Amino acid sequence: RCKGNYVNFYAVYDGSMSAQIVREQEITNEMSSALATGQFQIYLQPKYHIASNLPVGAEALVRWFHPQKGLIPPGDFVPVFERNGFIPKLDYYVWEEVCRLLRKWADEGRELYPISVNISRVDLYNPRLAEMVIELTEKYDLPSELLNLELTESAYTDNPVAMSETMAKLQSKGFTIMMDDFGSGYSSLNILKDISVDVLKIDMRFLSKTKIPGRGENIIASVVRMAKWLHIPVIAEGVETKDQVEFLRSIGCEYVQGFYFAKPMPVEAYADLVEKNGGLSQPVGASFEFNG
Ligand code: C2E
Ligand code: MG
Ligand code: MG
Ligand code: MG
Repeated sequence: RCKGNYVNFYAVYDGSMSAQIVREQEITNEMSSALATGQFQIYLQPKYHIASNLPVGAEALVRWFHPQKGLIPPGDFVPVFERNGFIPKLDYYVWEEVCRLLRKWADEGRELYPISVNISRVDLYNPRLAEMVIELTEKYDLPSELLNLELTESAYTDNPVAMSETMAKLQSKGFTIMMDDFGSGYSSLNILKDISVDVLKIDMRFLSKTKIPGRGENIIASVVRMAKWLHIPVIAEGVETKDQVEFLRSIGCEYVQGFYFAKPMPVEAYADLVEKNGGLSQPVGASFEFNG
């Protein structure tokens, strides 16, 4: 099962390949050199505290700047890298870029706010995942509070033992674990029952039009209420309109991330934004209070 033969196989049987397989093979052929030549870059999307309208940090989202094809969004290559095994390499690169950036900004004397990174369910198959993250923050001399970790429900469904153990190690060192795309999986409530996430990020599809009008909003309201009972702060993802912001405020959702506030942007633009507007001095959850 030599990799070279695999590539040749597709080169020979070109005519029978679907466009999808060709695209995947192209991506696979190019990924290593793309990483080595700096074609992957991070963008930062601020998260906001609704009540104060101040940023509380950001999420790092990877972008592929391809010399011929231009900007490729992660939805086009992250799933491919999860299938072909490259995602752990790319993710580690992203995490290190974020640490490097935070260290640089710290050295420049800037105010620092937490940045979250995405952890693929595939990353969890690495038994040293937690140690690697811990060692990274130590290498850049950063407190664990500054690097937040986003994991999706599917990671837990996939590999519950690895997820619980990794989370426990990271949380014991002070890292914040955010459950990404909450509600999009098949066992969201089970997950809440079994593992102690620090923050819930509600999947953006609940904010868009649902088959039954109003259902998405009612579900979000219920999740926010439930999360308060569980003492877990909530971030609503994909907020695009003022009406959505007002709705979220009315049901007691404290944090948002979405195009209405800011799109993912180059790191310098984020630094400028924070410099100009300031940010909330407390991280997500610190201002959190249970009131009924
Ligand atoms: P995610 O982690 O749920 O990230 C949020 C996605 O929602 C981002 O898409 C962001 O641009 C988009 N978004 C934010 N606000 C809005 C809005 O108001 N409207 C709409 N329509 N979209 C909004 P993006 O950057 O294309 O990333 C897509 C997914 O790719 C991410 O979803 C995440 O699952 C994955 N991804 C991105 N970067 C990385 C990475 O470094 N590592 C891994 N493993 N996955 C990544
Ligand atoms: Mg995310
Ligand atoms: Mg998400
Ligand atoms: Mg997602």
